[in-house]
Amino acid sequence: MLYKDQELKIYNSISGEKEHFQPINEGHIGMYVCGPTVYSNVHLGNVRTFMSFDMIFRYFKHLGFKVRFVRNITDAGHLENDADEGEDRIAKKARLEQIEPMEVVQMYTVDFHNILSAFNFLAPSIEPTATGHIIEQIEIIKEILDKGLAYEVNGSVYFDVLKYNESYHYGKLSGRNIEDLIHNTRALDGQSDKKNPQDFALWKKAEPQHIMRWPSPWSDGFPGWHLECTAMSTKYLGETFDIHGGGMDLKFPHHECEIAQAEACNDKSPVNFWMHANMLIMNGKKMAKSTGNYILPNEIFSGDNPHISKAFSASVARFFMLQAHYRSILDFTNAGLLASEKGYFKLMEAINSLDELSHSDKTDGFDVAAWRLNCYDAMNDDFNSPILIAELFAAVKFINQLKDHKASVSKPDLDTLKQTMRAFTFDVLGLENEGVKQDSGNKLSEAVEILINLRADARANKDFELSDKIRDELAAVGIQLKDGKDGTTFSTN
Ligand code: AMP
Ligand code: ZN
Repeated sequence: MLYKDQELKIYNSISGEKEHFQPINEGHIGMYVCGPTVYSNVHLGNVRTFMSFDMIFRYFKHLGFKVRFVRNITDAGHLENDADEGEDRIAKKARLEQIEPMEVVQMYTVDFHNILSAFNFLAPSIEPTATGHIIEQIEIIKEILDKGLAYEVNGSVYFDVLKYNESYHYGKLSGRNIEDLIHNTRALDGQSDKKNPQDFALWKKAEPQHIMRWPSPWSDGFPGWHLECTAMSTKYLGETFDIHGGGMDLKFPHHECEIAQAEACNDKSPVNFWMHANMLIMNGKKMAKSTGNYILPNEIFSGDNPHISKAFSASVARFFMLQAHYRSILDFTNAGLLASEKGYFKLMEAINSLDELSHSDKTDGFDVAAWRLNCYDAMNDDFNSPILIAELFAAVKFINQLKDHKASVSKPDLDTLKQTMRAFTFDVLGLENEGVKQDSGNKLSEAVEILINLRADARANKDFELSDKIRDELAAVGIQLKDGKDGTTFSTN
């Protein structure tokens, strides 16, 4: 197994340091990443965070780890302003669109999956939903109440942050200090049932008009947003697991509250490594749905957005994003995308010429073995994809020299070069080979042309049975023939 030769370092948000990564069970990794709240289309910022973890998942798999990667779908409990007040995001959308909340959930879950597969994401191992785990959430609330770290008021249950902080440390992840929090949070306005403004909801009693409600010992209501991730991560990965990830903006309060809930229940730290992906920004501000400062993936693919001059493929956008380290802020610009497009095609051209290269007795002009190790070193240093990409371009330069007969490569080195280039580009970075895609598109056209000509011959011979068979069987695989005055054309669906 490759992972046995590698010393992997991961930046742990909770210690603020890169630490040697050792999974709890050798060869196995449990990783949980907070998924989307499915009340609107995912924007490119959301895609960036999920892509960082897709790359990380891919690298673990490449190293030979068996990874259980859990990424949830938030389909209840996430209120408008990430706090305990306001309308449920999904219920609000349902009200505005006059459809059922579960129709909203279905629509945007499908959108999320379509967008992720357009960007060539691997599917997670488990994709659980909040509404599918109400019972587990209720059980956790009971345990926290039993421990005396939560209280019930008027059918709602709140986590008692001050009480918890007497024995544990609220703020250990975000670095926030409880005194400052008390100082800086608005005093309760008399409308809230909470004892202290820092407390957060574990269960909320539903107002009569609230449609998303479930029975519980306390009221007909719904779980607090932070609780679902504690319930689903514990259920599928255990009381302590290896990695928990999400966007930087989830560190507080979401992840801080997850730690508090899990520690209150199990009296141990739920996660060994906390990983936070940094934000995609545009015009100097965080890309966000709420401010209108966002771009949708489909607008990238169509070019239909004032921020960009043309359409870009998903692979180019993926390459653009992975050229930044996952913990760095990335500024979305048209110029950046244009530069990435050039780089991407240069990389693909070099990879597509690998099979044409011939070897000699010895290698001259490049140290293939050292270069391969550099690729691993880059990824082992907290998944440094920009350094990895720089290494891939060092190899591109060598490949181009080989093509120009200005360097030479031995048979074993050429094999290593091919295998390493492909593994990192396709398996780890998850780029797709558009050169090949175009090529297979051309081959498809040529094959269909042959069938169109055979059908024309059949018709000329009055063999309508055969001509119809060709048309129908092509239609059955999604290729429609259209007879026009200039001959027959085809379209695919
Ligand atoms: P949400 O559906 O709002 O919970 O967001 C889903 C994920 O996208 C979370 O992990 C967020 O941290 C992440 N996210 C939201 N906005 C951005 C952004 N501008 N750049 C990167 N990640 C983001
Ligand atoms: Zn979460």
